[in-house]
Amino acid sequence: MVFTAKGVAIPLLYSDAFLDHDTGPMHPERAGRLTAVVEALKEMPWSDRLDWVTPACRQGLDVRVGQLQSLRYVEAVKRLAEGGGGQIDADTVVSARSYDVALLALSAWLDGVDIVLERENASFVLARPPGHHATSRGGMGFCLFSNAAIAAHYALEKPGIERVAILDWDVHHGNGTQDICEKNPAIAYCSMHQAHFYPGTGHVDERGDHGNVLNLPMAAGSNLEQYLPVFDEQVMPFLKQFGADLLIVSAGYDATQADQLAGMSLQPEDYAVLTKRCLGLTRKILFGLEGGYDFDALGQAVAATLGAVINAD
Ligand SMILES: [Zn+2]
Repeated sequence: MVFTAKGVAIPLLYSDAFLDHDTGPMHPERAGRLTAVVEALKEMPWSDRLDWVTPACRQGLDVRVGQLQSLRYVEAVKRLAEGGGGQIDADTVVSARSYDVALLALSAWLDGVDIVLERENASFVLARPPGHHATSRGGMGFCLFSNAAIAAHYALEKPGIERVAILDWDVHHGNGTQDICEKNPAIAYCSMHQAHFYPGTGHVDERGDHGNVLNLPMAAGSNLEQYLPVFDEQVMPFLKQFGADLLIVSAGYDATQADQLAGMSLQPEDYAVLTKRCLGLTRKILFGLEGGYDFDALGQAVAATLGAVINAD
């Protein structure tokens, strides 16, 4: 544990280098998202309880990504970046620095795993690009490397870690995370997402090879009143029964009412409620940023998550 004058410090993994993944000024997933979150957090009355940790890029991550996605894909992203950049699909941009930044983002997720296990307390990875749409075949939907899935596999290499659960509350289904994890009985994946929406996966009948996947599509317009019964009666029992040694939350914040990329009606402060529920299950939670495109709502929602962690101490 690391203590501040007012209590336990909550690790926040962040680097200004994450701003260098340049998707262009009009792209929804642009650097300003992180800047907005950093500014919002610094204004919080508990900001001195945050322990800002700068990740360093780990060696050999290309191989690690290659094992779960493909080496051919990793090489393709690298070459695209070295050539000055380009697009993987209509939504997914690779700039000159994106390969290095995406590997640094993944490093931050892995550092986050280490820190959560070491301190036995929650941490937050404030990184980009996001990852939950990146499949074994390659990147898509703003995502390059499958951060949460790779972090879960990494955690399983640690002594005493036999089961890892991933809860994905981004408004979009994490098709990439599911794709990479659904065959592994040591990983559970649970997603709440807007039904009949991008990327078109995440049906209730997708249960994973071992019953280790739970998809909970939600009707457009859902607010906390609709979210909570599903959270309490389906998400929590599923996670409890699985009994993970580490919980990874793919923390996207695009289900807020203000977010223009989707049609849900959560308020930023609602994420404090969801976070408290998770903390009731375990303190060993790694939150990692996925989506969230209304800068103001994103900043407030991340703050609500971290505020709930800090106030739980
Ligand atoms: Zn999303």
